[in-house]
Amino acid sequence: MTSTTASHAADLVAALLFILSLAGLSQHRTSRAGVVYGIAGMALALIATIVVAAQSISAGAVALILVATAVGAAIGLWRARRVEMTQMPELIAVLHSFVGLAAVLVGWNSYLEVERHGDAQTRIGADLLGIHHAEVFIGIFIGAVTFTGSIVAFLKLSARIKSRPLMLPGKNALNIGALVAFVALTVWFTISPNLPLMIAVTALALALGWHLVASIGGGDMPVVVSMLNSYSGWAAAAAGFLLNNNLLIVTGALVGSSGAYLSYIMCKAMNRSFLSVIAGGFGIEAPSGGQEEQGEHREVRAAEAAEMLAQARSVIITPGYGMAVAQAQHPVAELTRRLRERGVEVRFGVHPVAGRLPGHMNVLLAEAKVPYDIVLEMDEINDDFADTSVVLVIGANDTVNPAAMDDPSSPIAGMPVLRVWESEQVIVFKRSMASGYAGVQNPLFFRENSAMLFGDAKQSVEAILHTLGSDGHHGESSTGRQTSLAGR
Ligand code: NDP
Repeated sequence: MTSTTASHAADLVAALLFILSLAGLSQHRTSRAGVVYGIAGMALALIATIVVAAQSISAGAVALILVATAVGAAIGLWRARRVEMTQMPELIAVLHSFVGLAAVLVGWNSYLEVERHGDAQTRIGADLLGIHHAEVFIGIFIGAVTFTGSIVAFLKLSARIKSRPLMLPGKNALNIGALVAFVALTVWFTISPNLPLMIAVTALALALGWHLVASIGGGDMPVVVSMLNSYSGWAAAAAGFLLNNNLLIVTGALVGSSGAYLSYIMCKAMNRSFLSVIAGGFGIEAPSGGQEEQGEHREVRAAEAAEMLAQARSVIITPGYGMAVAQAQHPVAELTRRLRERGVEVRFGVHPVAGRLPGHMNVLLAEAKVPYDIVLEMDEINDDFADTSVVLVIGANDTVNPAAMDDPSSPIAGMPVLRVWESEQVIVFKRSMASGYAGVQNPLFFRENSAMLFGDAKQSVEAILHTLGSDGHHGESSTGRQTSLAGR
């Protein structure tokens, strides 16, 4: 077998492993296997690429590649070990920006190569040269949009800049103008390629990527992250065409299409127009919802909350980002177990974008061994709030905001939310009256049947457990009961 055949075979196996990885990752139970397939596919792809490259470049260049791979792997391992669950979306955004930047560099390199070698006509073929130029331009455009878009997403997700949408005058016209300019520049470049056009398209795409993501409000960020995931896939596919690397084309297409599909599903879950979001909030007017408080709020202490729970017939817990920050899932699972022992019906209502990444709450609850069958999706539980004694909103805010339904001018208007306020009593666990990720105040906090339990969610739940435990009936330690909880 020649090395080229071997490398094609390795590409094919790696592509299959990536497909198996995606299939595995689509289900909780098979997700570990999915990760293993992904790692195996990527390792194979790297080895095959380095072996093939080694045949046409100097030993020094191979050494450089190996050093770069080792440095990249070390940084990747270090970051992955340190990253908190709540920082995952930021990390993903940074990684997307790398893919975008790589595609831009590959595009520039490809252009400079063709320019430098006078024999480009013969190597690529005169007929295909125009296509090559178009590929360079498209690769640079998608890559640069992904690069700056992902950087803005990173800055917003890590709260380094405000998550509120940037509302430049004529923002839709700016976006459409940039797209038209890109098409015109591409035609011009295929006819007469030159350096100023390369600089122009790079600058245009960098500015467009920045503006597209800056224009999208906090509540729509989950869709933006999956959309940038999709863009990074297409950027990788474009780089694959330029490098003549089939595996990169296949992998890029897999990432691009699965990211696009995830964005579509999330748009549906959030009642958002897919086209509007990918076009940088196209058609969305400046939101008017503010951060100002909207009345008087009532406060309760942990002991009173425990009393309400002790009297309750049914309880629904709606967790959000604050539960992840506080790492409150273990005491929450313990509270669930204790209440169920008392005969209280306890269930969880999980919003599709609760937390900071898809499935965030499900992962935390599974980690704390909350039984799957009492963890329900928003659509499955939303009609049951009206018949519920107490709802515990644990570190959730935007996902339980009635303004999404009642106030058409709210930035989150139209987003489906958990209708917690329909229950008899709502207890909101958070540290202050601060707004949620979308930056809008929540009228839920000022409703008559709402009470605020201020403090870190983990400490508040532990205080409730303490009160419940000290009533003489249920004082066992939490650790001694893990087995029975897991078994339910
Ligand atoms: P929010 O981000 O709306 O609110 C979380 C609340 O948790 C805050 O109001 C905060 O209030 C509270 N909190 C923070 N730390 C603690 C703590 N230690 N103890 C108690 N409370 C705490 O959360 P939701 O989950 O309701 O909504 C998710 C938001 O994130 C949506 O807007 C969604 O669009 C967005 N998003 C979701 C992504 C996803 O894929 N799921 C990705 C990116 C964004 P306080 O500071 O007063 O304590």
